[in-house]
Amino acid sequence: MTRRRWIAEHWDEATATLVGAQAEHMARVLRAQPGMEADVVAGGHVFHAEVAAVTQAGAKSEVRLNLLAEIKADPALPITLAIAVYKFDHMEWAIEKATELGVAAIDPMIARRTEKRLAQAAAARVERWRRIAHESAKQSRRSDVPVIHDPVPLPTRVKAASEATRLVLAEQERTTTLRLALDEALATAQAKIPVLEVAIGPEGGWAPEEEALFDANGWRAVSLGPRILRAETAAIAALAIMASYLE
Ligand code: SAM
Repeated sequence: MTRRRWIAEHWDEATATLVGAQAEHMARVLRAQPGMEADVVAGGHVFHAEVAAVTQAGAKSEVRLNLLAEIKADPALPITLAIAVYKFDHMEWAIEKATELGVAAIDPMIARRTEKRLAQAAAARVERWRRIAHESAKQSRRSDVPVIHDPVPLPTRVKAASEATRLVLAEQERTTTLRLALDEALATAQAKIPVLEVAIGPEGGWAPEEEALFDANGWRAVSLGPRILRAETAAIAALAIMASYLE
């Protein structure tokens, strides 16, 4: 039987506590009572748990659970998605899907072809992106929630120091496919699992100076084939291919 999964806001070695929207939903909608069973994510681990106490007080609701036993859970994939900020509703769809596909982190970047108003509004939008990742992590029964960093200018992200294998999805690339680059990354990593970073461009694509900056900072341009994909399609296709190599 699949128990609903919740993500604890507070926990210790024996109990976990839900507050806010999760607690209110459990208390008011599911009419949670002591003894009710559930799965709860606490500190990146998943536990079979049992409701111990329910305090129903609207937004101040609280549900305390006793942790019964740890459940084996699949960790996030060692993949960071560096995504250029673009139309929010499309981008948020990509964030939801990337979470389902197991990314460990999402780094929004302000690219040259990110629309001005979106670039200005991005910082205020991050909490919404984090809520979307939280809900998607629950729905996809992850044992953690991907980290969503604050948006930064593209050069800052591209130049950031990293040991990861860095791939930039480039619609003009004709030689190196994502699969070829992953074959080589796995061969280089041998017994270890390669840590990957993948960059996705905005609707308008990368500007030439950005492509040069990626190249100068060790990001390898890779193709997803001859067709021009929407940014969210490219993100999901790339993550699904990468997951198929790592899982
Ligand atoms: N404006 C560009 C054009 O018309 O050539 C298309 C940009 S595309 C909508 C958005 C982003 O998705 C690209 O910057 C790239 O990162 C990724 N992308 C789309 N199709 C791709 C492909 N076939 N191979 C690699 N990346 C692709």
